Amino acid sequence: MTKAPYETKARFHSKCPCGAKIVPGQDITIYPDAPRGRKAVCGQCELSASPEKLAGLPPKLTDTGLATLLEKARQAGTVAAKEQLTKLESSGPQWNIVNDKTFGGDGKVVGQMLDVCGFASIHIPNGRAGIVRQLKRVIETKQLVKRAYFHKGYYGGFGLSLFDMTNRQEMSVNEAAEQAALDTLKAAIPELKAHVTTRID
Ligand SMILES: [Zn+2]
Repeated sequence: MTKAPYETKARFHSKCPCGAKIVPGQDITIYPDAPRGRKAVCGQCELSASPEKLAGLPPKLTDTGLATLLEKARQAGTVAAKEQLTKLESSGPQWNIVNDKTFGGDGKVVGQMLDVCGFASIHIPNGRAGIVRQLKRVIETKQLVKRAYFHKGYYGGFGLSLFDMTNRQEMSVNEAAEQAALDTLKAAIPELKAHVTTRID
């Protein structure tokens, strides 16, 4: 939507996308950027209140709504992290930590790990999409959402990190958390193009 909707009087008989008949002289709202056949809206229906509804898109999130969604995503991530950690613990340690001889150590096992250590974050390739700009704005104002970080990606694009979902170093735990958080975001924002990336520490 780039051209603003405007109100006018109908000049001929037509039909509103809601199904109501439009007669000449009636007050209507014109949405210049709406798909063909959906530009004229009767003004009595709920379509007239929202360009998104008119275009068949989900309603636009307010900044507060987006902040609430980010918190919901964090909670989903926290739950998923706990589940993955329980899984790892039931499988037992997979890796030994060795005091490596290469570096002058004695070659003895000094500890064990459940998984390799690593980070995970949400990668957003395109920073120009409206929803991404809104995400950045909401996160960077810090008033609405705390413990979240929007940053330049290591290999281009952008990264989104929600902190304190795991407080763990195991990569699969961090990956499960970010994936669950992203799934929650995408369920509410289907147009969001993003995926989870991982990096061994
Ligand atoms: Zn209507």
